[in-house]
Amino acid sequence: MKYQELITVYEAIAGTTKRLEKTDILAEFFKKVNVDTLPKVVLMALGTVFPPWSEEEQGLADKLLMKAIAEVVGVSLSMVEDQVREQGDIGGAARELYKKRSQTTFFSKPLEIEFVFSNLRKLAKISGDKSQSRKIAIVLELLSSATGIEAKYIARTILEELRIGVGEGTIRDAISLAFNVDKVILDRAHMLTNDLGLVAKVAKEKGEEGLGQLNLSPGKPVKPMLAQLSEGIDNSVREMGESICETKYDGIRLQIHKKEDEINLFTRRLENVSLAIPEMVGYIKKSFPNENFIAEGEIIATKNNKPISFQYMLQRVRRKYNIEKAIEDVPLKLFLFDLLYFKKSMIDEPLAIRRSTLEEVVDTSLDQINLSEMIKVTCENRNDALDLFNKSIAEGHEGIMIKDPKEPYIPGIRGKKMQKFKAEPESLDVVVVGGTYGIGRRTNFIGSYKVAIKGEDDELKTVAHVATGLDDETLASLTDLMNKYKVHEKGTKIDVEPKIILEIAYSEIVKSPEYEAGYSLRFPVVKRIRKDKGLADIDTVERLKSMFKG
Ligand code: ATP
Repeated sequence: MKYQELITVYEAIAGTTKRLEKTDILAEFFKKVNVDTLPKVVLMALGTVFPPWSEEEQGLADKLLMKAIAEVVGVSLSMVEDQVREQGDIGGAARELYKKRSQTTFFSKPLEIEFVFSNLRKLAKISGDKSQSRKIAIVLELLSSATGIEAKYIARTILEELRIGVGEGTIRDAISLAFNVDKVILDRAHMLTNDLGLVAKVAKEKGEEGLGQLNLSPGKPVKPMLAQLSEGIDNSVREMGESICETKYDGIRLQIHKKEDEINLFTRRLENVSLAIPEMVGYIKKSFPNENFIAEGEIIATKNNKPISFQYMLQRVRRKYNIEKAIEDVPLKLFLFDLLYFKKSMIDEPLAIRRSTLEEVVDTSLDQINLSEMIKVTCENRNDALDLFNKSIAEGHEGIMIKDPKEPYIPGIRGKKMQKFKAEPESLDVVVVGGTYGIGRRTNFIGSYKVAIKGEDDELKTVAHVATGLDDETLASLTDLMNKYKVHEKGTKIDVEPKIILEIAYSEIVKSPEYEAGYSLRFPVVKRIRKDKGLADIDTVERLKSMFKG
């Protein structure tokens, strides 16, 4: 199938802000695409060629992409850079510049979807010696056969940012509409496989029955079940009747998958971090029976056996070099709290059974492998939950989790059946969309950050300017990042792509017509940079509204 057909769909979708129209256009297209191309088209409509858990990325720096465009069009790099500034992105710039293109390849065949897809995937496979020049060769091949509009979307797919306003929700609706399958069945299949391409293929080939047969499979991470805020320990325990209370550790959530001999560790964003923390893979191998399983736990960094800042943990999972030294410097401990699969899927079992099975199968004799500290609480011994909270805080942890022991594991859901109670007031996860350079001592730093949360249909809505809370070192590295993602600049102000996630604390939520969210925050302070979170994890206007005390 011609790539141009997909482009026509992209443009039609980008041309409307109405979600229903976007869904209709996509659904019509999904019906037309053959079953082998469909999974690829689904990924490409999401602006990528890899499933969400894939470790692979195309890894082509913006600069190289711009160089490739300059070469194909026959202009200087600085001309491409100027155009990027004007258009706001490299894809848009490519489209404009192609109008000036001096050499056209006369006999080139039109690009096929399959060809574009497989070439973009190839980029990720190239590593080592001369990898950048080999990558460039592939990109040049694609771009020189492309028309202007094709170049626009090839560039955007390389950068994994299609900018047509389509998220997973719209894709799911479109699959449901195209193949007449129930949304509930489809959502479940998606939750369990995390693979919308596969879900679309099965929906097309086998309908609801086929979707119903899809299940968890070790090796493929699932979106974690998330917690709501508890309005008070007493309240939560009363609500659940009977509950499981556990220490809430402040580290990184790990989903541990063992399939045959292979162990893979995924973060909550489904990034595979096994290579960064190889010692953990070893400890886990020693502590679990030789069966296929999926378990979950929180991994924390320690010093003298005490938990240390979450930032150390982040540094560990991001590290690519000198891992041996990091293993020595920052020892890790795992606290397991759930078991999603053991020989078979366990997610439909109540938590009480999943936990007791976990306790049976894990050997905790290694210091690094632990079960989360846990007590069973009913209305009669409610005070024990408070004791556990106080003890957890005294030991340097974050608070407690309160969970309903009767409940199944529901991937990707933030429900009332799992609640968190923390010592610190609640914070907000926001994305940075702009910034302003400082004055005086801080003229070289971006000192104030314009941040946004998600509105309906995932549109970003500004909510505050945050100016404090960061030390000079962090400010400097954040300023570098901001420049990397810069899309526009005027005076001391810049706009950036929404890539940097910050966790911010504040004293109060207030109504504010000044910000697009309609609300703002008093005295916002940056608590930390959340490299473990992505755009999908930021807070929503809806949540802010629900927390507004009036
Ligand atoms: P937070 O920023 O508060 O960690 P979050 O958005 O990352 O929140 P939530 O689901 O709101 O995630 O809070 C639960 C998180 O707490 C889990 O994702 C997990 O990483 C962590 N956690 C620590 N200890 C436990 C535990 N015993 N059981 C479940 N989750 C735990």
